Amino acid sequence: MQSLMISVSGIRGIVGEGLTPDIVARFSTAFGLFCGGGPIVVGRDTRLSGPMFEHAVFSGLMAAGCEIINLGMCTTPTIQLAVEKLKARGGIAITASHNPEDWNAVKFMDNRGMFLNAQNGLEVLEIAESKQEGYVHYRDIGTVSHIDNFNIEHIKAIICSGTVKPEKMRHRNFNVVVDCVNGAGSIILPDLLLELGCDVTKINCTPNGDFSRGAEPVPENLGDLCETVVNTKADIGFACDPDADRLAVVDEKGRPLSEEYTLVLSAKLVLSEKKGDIAANVSTTAALDVVAQEAGVKIHRTKVGEIHVVQKMIEQNCVIGGEGNGGVIFPEIHYGRDAMVGTALILQYLSEFEEPLSKLYDRLPHYYISKRKVTVESKTLNHFIEKTREENYAAKIDTTDGLKLIFPHYWVHLRKSNTEPIVRVIAEAKSTEEADSVSGRYAKMLAEQ
Ligand code: MG
Repeated sequence: MQSLMISVSGIRGIVGEGLTPDIVARFSTAFGLFCGGGPIVVGRDTRLSGPMFEHAVFSGLMAAGCEIINLGMCTTPTIQLAVEKLKARGGIAITASHNPEDWNAVKFMDNRGMFLNAQNGLEVLEIAESKQEGYVHYRDIGTVSHIDNFNIEHIKAIICSGTVKPEKMRHRNFNVVVDCVNGAGSIILPDLLLELGCDVTKINCTPNGDFSRGAEPVPENLGDLCETVVNTKADIGFACDPDADRLAVVDEKGRPLSEEYTLVLSAKLVLSEKKGDIAANVSTTAALDVVAQEAGVKIHRTKVGEIHVVQKMIEQNCVIGGEGNGGVIFPEIHYGRDAMVGTALILQYLSEFEEPLSKLYDRLPHYYISKRKVTVESKTLNHFIEKTREENYAAKIDTTDGLKLIFPHYWVHLRKSNTEPIVRVIAEAKSTEEADSVSGRYAKMLAEQ
């Protein structure tokens, strides 16, 4: 893998190799010029390289004449919300999300707190790559101001949203364990739980950037959380990724629910309160189709990536949406994947019923996902897509993002990675064995092209 990746959503790389302060400053200036100066919100996760890149971002933005509003260490969704609430021209998140500790990234947001779409992202790239003189006159150099605890505003936005009913949750006094991988959620997520009247046991909630488990909140990384849930007789466990836009849940038996079910549970709650369509990327579980059908609403499928889901949600006026990797988007609060929002919605769901989470989960439609990677060029995938179309499979074909074949009892999705020369093969079926066998079959077919 290259150690610097430049894309329309920002730049990402290994610290000190691909990703260096001078590159970060250059792209920050480009973004500042793209925004036309004005207030820009900046925040970072807990990575050790965060403060270094924060200063590079400041430098770059000041050179473009921007007024920086610095939130310091905070989650990505907190930055998104702040851009909107503070009426900034844009935002920058310094986080490599679930990438390892030695990586970092700079991601750009527009004046609605949404990640840049392809067109705007390209414009920033063009400015960064051109040699144009964009620096402002020395009298017009930008400024930096600090907001210490925007977390309070973020929590307020959640508990005052209307759908979330703090009194009801406080009455239940849930016993909760939370694991924030020592990332940006380490302060705000436990604070939110306390605000909702929970007894909170914290693990990995020291915001020091030491990712003590695998960074993604997937079942294989949640062993400690599962054990602590059982030992403390907790009602539920929550885990997020280092910048807290993705959330996963563990039931009271210490069973990690697939992160696909974070959105399913959140959607169940929202649809019980208000009728409206939902949106999710094409790789997200079919359990969501069942939930939509039961509620009598439509589900809109999009390309993978938060911005695609958000655009569709705005276009179709959806009441909830997100991605199967644990990313819940609830427009009543803001248009961004938000682990704090997901936490509040799921606790609200739990408080509506007198039953334990395991019972509620067991009543949901169940599907199992199997994911593989095949190292092939993207033209191989294109060829395979053409061939599949010609052969006219007895399946529904969806080419929103790569190729998705939908059969009555399973689906398979083949999608090229934007960052590696691989194709991701994702299959979902009614059992783990079947999902594995389907993903295996397609991976083989692709490799033999
Ligand atoms: Mg993330």
